[in-house]
Amino acid sequence: MGEQSKQPGCCKRSELAYERAFRVIPGGVNSPVRAFREVQLCPVFIRSARGSRIWDIDGSEYIDYVGSWGPMILGHAHPAVVSAVQQAAALGTSYGAPTEGEVELAQRICSAYPSIQKVRLVSSGTEAAMTAARLARAYTGKDILIKMIGCYHGHCDSMLVKAGSGVAELSTASSAGVPADLAAKTVTVAYNDIHTLTLAFKKHQGQIAGVLIEPVAANMGVVLPQPGYLQQIRQLCSEQNAVLVFDEVITGFRVAFGGAQQLYGIQPDLTCLGKIVGGGLPCAAVGGRQDIMDMLAPLGPVYQAGTLSGNPLAVAAANPSLNLLQDPACYQKLEQSAAALAEGLADAARKAAIPVTINRVGSIMTCFFTDRPVQNFDDVKACNMPRFKAFFAAMLQQGIYLAPSAFEAMFVSLAHTTEDIEKTVSAAYNAFRKIL
Ligand SMILES: *Cc1c(COP(=O)(O)O)cnc(C)c1O
Repeated sequence: MGEQSKQPGCCKRSELAYERAFRVIPGGVNSPVRAFREVQLCPVFIRSARGSRIWDIDGSEYIDYVGSWGPMILGHAHPAVVSAVQQAAALGTSYGAPTEGEVELAQRICSAYPSIQKVRLVSSGTEAAMTAARLARAYTGKDILIKMIGCYHGHCDSMLVKAGSGVAELSTASSAGVPADLAAKTVTVAYNDIHTLTLAFKKHQGQIAGVLIEPVAANMGVVLPQPGYLQQIRQLCSEQNAVLVFDEVITGFRVAFGGAQQLYGIQPDLTCLGKIVGGGLPCAAVGGRQDIMDMLAPLGPVYQAGTLSGNPLAVAAANPSLNLLQDPACYQKLEQSAAALAEGLADAARKAAIPVTINRVGSIMTCFFTDRPVQNFDDVKACNMPRFKAFFAAMLQQGIYLAPSAFEAMFVSLAHTTEDIEKTVSAAYNAFRKIL
C-alpha cells in the first residue's frame, strides 16, 4: 500500500478518510455519485483545486473534467471570484434581508435570458425545479407533470419517478419514501420521442400542468435534442395550455451564455438555473414569464422561501463569474478546446479499435462505449458499462479525473489548456488500448 500511495487513484489517505466518513455519513459521502460505487473504487478525497487541476489528500494531481459537476466553467479558484468572496465574507456571511448584490444578479439573469422577466434566487437546482413544478401546477390549476426518462431535475418527490406499465401511463416512485399517489401525478416519456409525448397529452387530456425537460440532456451522459424536437414540445405546450419548463441547471451559461434556449431559439415559460449561476457557491434560480412568477409569495398564493436564498457570498461569487462569461470570446474558446478534445478522443478510440459515440454540445460531452447513435436513455443503457469502468480506472491512474459514472458529462472549462487536452487525449489512447 505504502509505495502506491503517490500514484493517482490509489490513495492511502483517501482510503482512511473514506473509512472515517463511512462511520458518520451515510455511504461516506454527501451526494451519492461521489462514492465511486459504479466504478467500484475508493473515492478520491480532494484537498485543493486551481485552474484545470485538482489535488487529492495524498498529493496526487489530476486534470479535472468534473468541475464540481458543472459550476467551475472559469476553472477552479479563479482570482476574481476568490477575491470577491473574501471581501464579501468580511462583511458578514448572511443577513436574512435583501442586498443590492441579489438585484444585480437578478438583472444579469433577466438580461441574458429574454424568456425570464422575473427570477427568484434559491440555493440548489432541486429547489429551482421543485418551485417550477409547483408554479406550473398552480398556474394551470392542473396536477400532472411530464418528465423525460433519463433527465434529472434534482431530488424533489415529483421528479423521482420511473415509467409505469404501459405507454405514456402514470409513473411509479423511483425512490423509497415517495408516496405512490404523488408519483402517479407524473408521466414519463422517452427523450426525443415527440410521438409518445403527444400521446401523453391525449391520454391525460386537460390534466397536464407542465413539461419539464433538460433541453440538452446531460444527466444520462450528453444527449442532443433531435432537430425540431424542442420546437414541437413548445408548440404542444402552447396548444394544451401546459407550462414548458426548461431545466437549464447544467446548460444555462454553459452551452451558450443564454443557455440552450438561446442556442436552439426557443422560449420556455419557466427556466431553472443552477451550477454555473452560483459561480461555485450554493445558488440557483427559477425564472420566467412575469404572470407565472408573480404567483410566488409574497405577491401570490404559491409558497416558496429560503433562509440562505440569495446568500451574499454566493451572490458575490456569481456576479463576477457571469460578468466574465458575458464575453463571447469565452464560448469561442470553450468550443475550440472541447472540439479538440472530442476529436482527439474519437481519433484515439479509432486507432485503438474501440467503438465509441461522442455526443457534444459546446463544452459538455460524453464518450459512450457503443458503435450506435445515442438519442435516449435506452441507447445509453445499451452501452458497454464494463468498458467504461475500466476506462475510468485507467484514466484516473494517469491523472485524469472523469465523472465516476457512465451517465455523466465531461465538463471542459476556460482553464483547460491545449497541453491539458493533449495530455488527456494521449492518456485516453493508453486507456483505450488497455481495455481492448
Ligand atoms: C444538478 C442538476 C439539478 C439539481 O441541482 P442541485 O443543485 O444538485 O440540487 C437539477 N437539474 C439538472 C438538470 C441538474 O443537472
